[in-house]
Amino acid sequence: RSAIVWFRRDLRLGDLPTLLSAADAADHCLALFVLDEKLLGPSGPARRTYLYRCLRALDEQLGGRLLVVKGDPVDVLPKVASSIDAETVHISADYGPYGTRRDTEVGEALGSVELVATGSPYAVAPGRIRKSDDTPYKVFTPFRRAWYEHGWRAPAQTDAKTVRWLEPDLPDRIAIPDDEDLGETTLPAAGEAAALARWKEFLAEDLGQYDDARNRPDLDASSRLSPFLKFGCVHPRTLLADLRGDEPSTATLRSELAWRDFYADVLHNRPDTARKNFDRRFDRIEYASGREADENFAAWCEGRTGFPIVDAGMRQLLGEGWMHNRVRMITASFLTKDLHLPWWWGARHFMRHLVDGDLASNQHGWQWTAGSGTDASPYFRVFNPTTQGEKFDPNGDYVRRWVPELAGVAGKAVHTLKDSRPDDYPEPIVDHAHERVDALRRYDDIKA
Ligand code: FAD
Repeated sequence: RSAIVWFRRDLRLGDLPTLLSAADAADHCLALFVLDEKLLGPSGPARRTYLYRCLRALDEQLGGRLLVVKGDPVDVLPKVASSIDAETVHISADYGPYGTRRDTEVGEALGSVELVATGSPYAVAPGRIRKSDDTPYKVFTPFRRAWYEHGWRAPAQTDAKTVRWLEPDLPDRIAIPDDEDLGETTLPAAGEAAALARWKEFLAEDLGQYDDARNRPDLDASSRLSPFLKFGCVHPRTLLADLRGDEPSTATLRSELAWRDFYADVLHNRPDTARKNFDRRFDRIEYASGREADENFAAWCEGRTGFPIVDAGMRQLLGEGWMHNRVRMITASFLTKDLHLPWWWGARHFMRHLVDGDLASNQHGWQWTAGSGTDASPYFRVFNPTTQGEKFDPNGDYVRRWVPELAGVAGKAVHTLKDSRPDDYPEPIVDHAHERVDALRRYDDIKA
């Protein structure tokens, strides 16, 4: 008996329950990845290249036996299944709007070949945690409480030898694409071995200070696991198994992983929120438009707003396909509340450049900042980019790292640039105090 193990967002071999179900069902398995244009298109070169690197690492773990095929999975799966006489196709379930639709269509196209879903990319699968009245949670803290109470399985004991792999000698096989031209961008390490090495290093060196230091972009003290989690190079269950006890740093990191599950749950229950406001009152908000709005958006994207912490963040995004969480909040607040632009403009730019770009975490991170999302993040909370910079980058090191024009400005003066704005660094494109009042007026209008 033979089967297909269809890899998607689970590019690893350890702690992969899909392999256990495949080993139960078949004597030989074919490892398959489908390069689907519908997913590759909206990703930028950084995330596509990062994916190719993860695929190369997986292929190496499989001794070169990963079959990579380009096309629409609805066409590819039945063809590959029939060419090896597979009786089953094994997947880890996808809960995103596109993935859910695709898997239903693939299941139908496979006919008598069964599509078997085991596990998901989350500690607790979306849709599982419900309130006592059987409706989904809309606020994080009670969700997290229920999430803890629900708990999760121990890591699955799997590796390359859990199943016997078939040689992928099929005519449609293509080579894993080469890295794209990334210009100056340098990407984080990819693949399962790198993920586990980073996790071990973080546990040994950084976890103790995580609770205090995670908000400081200059210290770079967060785990940087998001790209690995995005592509499933490590499963959150593996991390949670090491995060026992109630030390503040341990509890905070567990809570961050709960945010990831929460947003996946919200998107699963409200797939419309990938594009639309979670709080539909925000549909009426008045946005800036016209040439000035377009120019401001371009300045934000390119990191030349004249607000140092905003520009540093936007340049980090372009420089390494990743941005520190605190700075994601500051730059998102700036776009929505200082420039009065729609959150989805910013979300699209982030999704194009973030290596960890994930529809649920990204769209809902944006909606939280814009005030239109879950948790009723107070709409009147408008980040002041200058004081945020002074507070979270107190010596100015983060700004100087990413904005070379400011390398000569010492200490935290780099945030205010009083009497020290270099000629080659832009003047602020807006007056924050003025825009803050304007943002509050726009929000007041929709409450009426
Ligand atoms: P750590 O602090 O080490 O946290 C560990 C893990 O917990 C992260 O890797 C991530 O998987 C999860 N996590 C932490 N914070 C959050 C959060 N607020 N929401 C959801 N999961 C979280 N995260 C993404 O993975 N992909 C995105 O596309 C994304 N877009 C965002 C957009 C905006 C506007 C905002 C405000 C946040 C966004 N986040 C996104 C959440 C967060 O910024 C990143 O997960 C975090 O910066 C990743 O760095 P880390 O791995 O070092 O995090």
